[in-house]
Amino acid sequence: MQTLTDQNRHILIVEDDADTAEMVSTFLETAGYSTATVDTGEIALNEISSQPPDLVLLDLGLPDMPGLEVLKQVRANSFLPLIVISGKTQEHDKVVALEQGADDYMGKPFSPEELLARVMALLRRVGWTPVPEPKLIVRHLELDMARRQASIRNKKLHLTPVEYGILVTMMRTAGAVVNHDDLLRAVWGERYESDYSVLRVNISRLRQKLEENPRHPSYIVTVPGQGYVMPLKRP
Ligand code: CA
Repeated sequence: MQTLTDQNRHILIVEDDADTAEMVSTFLETAGYSTATVDTGEIALNEISSQPPDLVLLDLGLPDMPGLEVLKQVRANSFLPLIVISGKTQEHDKVVALEQGADDYMGKPFSPEELLARVMALLRRVGWTPVPEPKLIVRHLELDMARRQASIRNKKLHLTPVEYGILVTMMRTAGAVVNHDDLLRAVWGERYESDYSVLRVNISRLRQKLEENPRHPSYIVTVPGQGYVMPLKRP
């Protein structure tokens, strides 16, 4: 169900394959978004810095520079919602793109319906403005919902929208095991296809940011075969 806040969201499509770009832009515009298409990494970076869109769809195979380089430069200054699209379906590219900060990943060929579902889910997470509520606090971890700012031992954490979503879910249910599917659903939305590798990469990035020892996490602890738990006391 599309909400009013989805209207007028501007999406930048970075894709050198004219047919794919055309299909994606037609589909997104029919759904009520405005789009612009650029076909090189350089133009994309200029466009993003001069007129930041609400979301970027980034093809990894661009004629002038690797899409991963574009991703790196975008992530150097912003947490702009970004979905990577690639003809390379190897797991490796996907993991690299996610490690470098992509919020989601789609391998070609994809259905425009699925792309739309992911765009909507990502924008919903970003645009989700909760009713101001008291801070969530779990041990040394604090989350200011109104400011969307998490900190650990008073040190601010810089989180991507997905990492933030995972953290909110884990903190709200602290002390209880959250299973993989519930976490995927909470963060990516009802229509999201189960993809544990995306979840694993995001959890691992989050641990790098908040755990004293990411190899022996004490805030996001794996419960084998079930999911994750945020213990209320240090394990
Ligand atoms: Ca391409």
